[in-house]
Amino acid sequence: MLGPVILAASRSDRMRRLISAAPVTKQVVDRFIPGEDVDDIVPVVRDLAGNGLELTMDVVGEDITSPAQAAAARDAYLELVDRLKPLELGTRAEMSVKLSMFGQALEDGHELALKNVRPVVEAAAEIGTTVTLDAEDHTTLDSMFAIHEELRKDFPQTGCVIQAYLFRTEADARRLAESGSRVRLVKGAYKEPASVAYQDKHEIDRAYVRILRTLMDGKGYPMIGSHDPRLIAIGQELAHQARRELDEYEFQMLYGIRTDEHLRLAAEGHRMRVYTAYGTDWYGYFMRRLAEKPANLRFFARSMLTK
Ligand code: FAD
Repeated sequence: MLGPVILAASRSDRMRRLISAAPVTKQVVDRFIPGEDVDDIVPVVRDLAGNGLELTMDVVGEDITSPAQAAAARDAYLELVDRLKPLELGTRAEMSVKLSMFGQALEDGHELALKNVRPVVEAAAEIGTTVTLDAEDHTTLDSMFAIHEELRKDFPQTGCVIQAYLFRTEADARRLAESGSRVRLVKGAYKEPASVAYQDKHEIDRAYVRILRTLMDGKGYPMIGSHDPRLIAIGQELAHQARRELDEYEFQMLYGIRTDEHLRLAAEGHRMRVYTAYGTDWYGYFMRRLAEKPANLRFFARSMLTK
């Protein structure tokens, strides 16, 4: 019940100001977002890669209000790519981007987001890696898929994310599987109405399995974005049934969540990619993590009271 309330708060400016200013917020935030700038994050990348894990890097931020902020987001990613270059990790460290941060919601936002994201994809390709377009709320997805298709003309490895809770996703999955795309499948983290999305957890899980089967049976590269032990086991079974080798799909989890499981899957020989977010504009990302697990909120509230 708490999840939808927290997700609504994630879009509130008043809550943003209150929570961001709370004195203990930072130590709780650090669990999920291990750095504020690129200097903080490079050692984290080294550590994770040293433990046999792969990474997808997110410079946090969304809901920007000016083209200058969108250009700053692009530049932050370009700086990141520059700093990853000497590590020579290739596809072991890729980028995840939210198109809203690149200007998608502004005037002529579709063109602006494409214009800003393209140099990031080009820079990533120059250091031998790639970019995945995150999925945001359902109103943004037609534009995201069109940008994905456009980028894939020159950079076929560009990935995108699909969300099992949306009714549209089974059709999107069939199209992407047929076109041979890299696709991350997640349950979905936004507050969506019943007109477009399943609301029941079990229905979402069942949709996840149907969609994952489509991806595994298709021509693309499935990326299983989930911490759910049942779905991870089903993912392994579906990959086996589709006769995929260990390097023909991968698991992805968020930094700070089920860390032992990251290491266990990597030790079993799976490709395990950790979604690692950093930056100062962490509010939206952090609130979605609280909404996913009420125990996180209790921990957060307790640390505020005991301070
Ligand atoms: P759940 O049933 O929510 O969780 C399973 C178990 O995992 C829980 O019982 C708990 O033990 C643990 N767990 C899950 N979440 C948390 C948490 N926050 N804190 C502590 N423990 C937790 N969503 C989008 O809408 N768009 C995206 O682009 C997107 N990208 C993602 C990328 C990656 C790599 C991952 C892993 C998730 C991404 N998500 C994205 C979020 C996703 O939609 C879900 O909200 C999130 O993964 C929780 O769902 P779950 O599959 O882990 O299952």
